[in-house]
Amino acid sequence: MKIEEMISANRADCSGCEACANVCPKNAIEMRRDAEGFAYPTINRELCVSCGKCDATCPALNFTKKFPDTFPKVFAAINPDEKIRRHSSSGGAFTALSELVLQSGGVVFGAGFDENFHVKHTAAHTHDELENLRGSKYVQSKIDDVYRRVRDMLKSTSVLFSGTPCQCAGLKKFLGGDNENLLTVDIICHGTPSPALWENYIGELGYAHEIRHVNFRSKRKGWATSQLEINFADQGHSICPVYKDIYGKLFLSGVSERPSCHACKFKFPNGQSDLTLGDAWGIQSFAPEMFDNRGTSVIFLHTPKGKAFLELTTLKMRQVKFFDAVKSNPAMMVPLAADVRRGNFFAHYSTIADKFAVMQYYAQQDDSAIRKQVSEQNHRALMQSLQEIAANVRQKFERNILILATPRDEREQKILGEYFEQNIPNVGVYIMRPVGNGKIFCTENFSSMDFALNETPDVLSAFAKQFRVAAIFVERSIKFDSPVVVEWLKSCGLPIQTFTMSQK
Ligand SMILES: Cc1cc2nc3c(=O)[nH]c(=O)nc-3n(C[C@H](O)[C@H](O)[C@H](O)COP(=O)(O)OP(=O)(O)OC[C@H]3O[C@@H](n4cnc5c(N)ncnc54)[C@H](O)[C@@H]3O)c2cc1C
Ligand code: SF4
Ligand code: SF4
Ligand code: SF4
Repeated sequence: MKIEEMISANRADCSGCEACANVCPKNAIEMRRDAEGFAYPTINRELCVSCGKCDATCPALNFTKKFPDTFPKVFAAINPDEKIRRHSSSGGAFTALSELVLQSGGVVFGAGFDENFHVKHTAAHTHDELENLRGSKYVQSKIDDVYRRVRDMLKSTSVLFSGTPCQCAGLKKFLGGDNENLLTVDIICHGTPSPALWENYIGELGYAHEIRHVNFRSKRKGWATSQLEINFADQGHSICPVYKDIYGKLFLSGVSERPSCHACKFKFPNGQSDLTLGDAWGIQSFAPEMFDNRGTSVIFLHTPKGKAFLELTTLKMRQVKFFDAVKSNPAMMVPLAADVRRGNFFAHYSTIADKFAVMQYYAQQDDSAIRKQVSEQNHRALMQSLQEIAANVRQKFERNILILATPRDEREQKILGEYFEQNIPNVGVYIMRPVGNGKIFCTENFSSMDFALNETPDVLSAFAKQFRVAAIFVERSIKFDSPVVVEWLKSCGLPIQTFTMSQK
């Protein structure tokens, strides 16, 4: 299937990554905006020589799903330079990584503003130039010829390319694979709104006042309640929480994103980057010592190259569990559901002359019920996706052990898991704990993901078989008063060893 056929069959398949336009040897592909303001490739038949390179390079057309047998290591991170952290959206991980590349004489590519505050990918060669790339811009960034420029730079120097997961996938397909001089850093991606919408919005705000600076994630009121702040040349400024602002509301509820964002193919485990950066949402509950409301990054480590870079940074880091990091951040793994008003919104937007008025009209509607519905849909999709991956991860462990214990809290549970992991190589550790409603919950060491087991010998035996449980460790002082578990322990025929918490 060719890219044009793919797009006419389903526009949502094209992420607008621009790999096809960059690879075309005849410059026959132009990225043209549609009525929603998103760019799609259009082929000029007079220039095209039917070489097929665009089709062979398109990451969507050549997509194959990955089935990982492990979860990546995840870190919460804070840049020790407070000024950099203040101007970064999360914990400033992007700048820490970029500085390593700049110090070695390399170049950093990322999304920046042009002189009109339109968003496009650009290069930074110096610490000062990095400023324009710092901070999230909630708009689809234009790639132009950046993949070609990356390819050319890689011949003589190291390059950090940062962007959305679909852009990192586009670059890798364009290059034909990885390159030893290249570090790819993508972001957890909620989705990217229409550039036309953004341009209408700042066009309206900038009509009376010249815009000097835009910050989508101002931390004046703290990281957890980010503000969209716009500063004007006449000293005035506009500041509003993202969730209340006209543009911000349409973005958060899923009205204004590109169709491909609601069917995204490039989230974990299907990304192509060395590292993924995001906000460590929920950090207060799983690593409170890394929370001070000034911004904490979460970093997903995908490759040895990513690890080598991460180890060289000055970031203050703490390893956290994969499940903890994604449970408040479904955008890491699942395409976010669209607001049910999306179709109507763009139908009005594309036909009514006063675009800002359309945005205002939809943003003023009470969307609390829709937001709740979207959030529940996202959560369900996340759980399903996690279960699928967890099932695959389990397959890799040849020998699992089951610990029956009653850890008092998460900390004790963690110590237990780590103790057994360290002492018995290559095992999956399952910790069971009764919860008194006829169920036993079982936690997996690699993800801290709970799943419920009904307390009957049948179900428990099936569990032992399915997860290839090879041995059972029972805490000596165990308070499992369920006869079913006792019966199961006796009947399952597996070696049982006892231990006390103090032995660890
Ligand atoms: C559209 C969008 C949606 C996001 N959704 C989520 C989310 O749901 N959950 C979450 O945890 N994090 C999300 N993020 C990521 C988060 O906002 C931070 O960008 C990320 O944590 C890096 O922060 P930092 O402090 O390390 O560095 P910063 O300096 O704040 O980050 C800058 C980095 O973001 C890149 N970037 C900025 N704007 C764009 C853009 N429009 N397109 C491509 N790359 C861009 C730059 O190239 C640079 O790499 C999103 C970012 C964007 C741009
Ligand atoms: S087939 Fe070749 S020449 Fe034609 S648009 Fe695609 S890449 Fe360009
Ligand atoms: S290469 Fe990217 S922009 Fe081109 S058709 Fe494929 S997804 Fe769309
Ligand atoms: S959600 Fe997916 S398709 Fe949309 S911009 Fe992000 S990575 Fe690309």
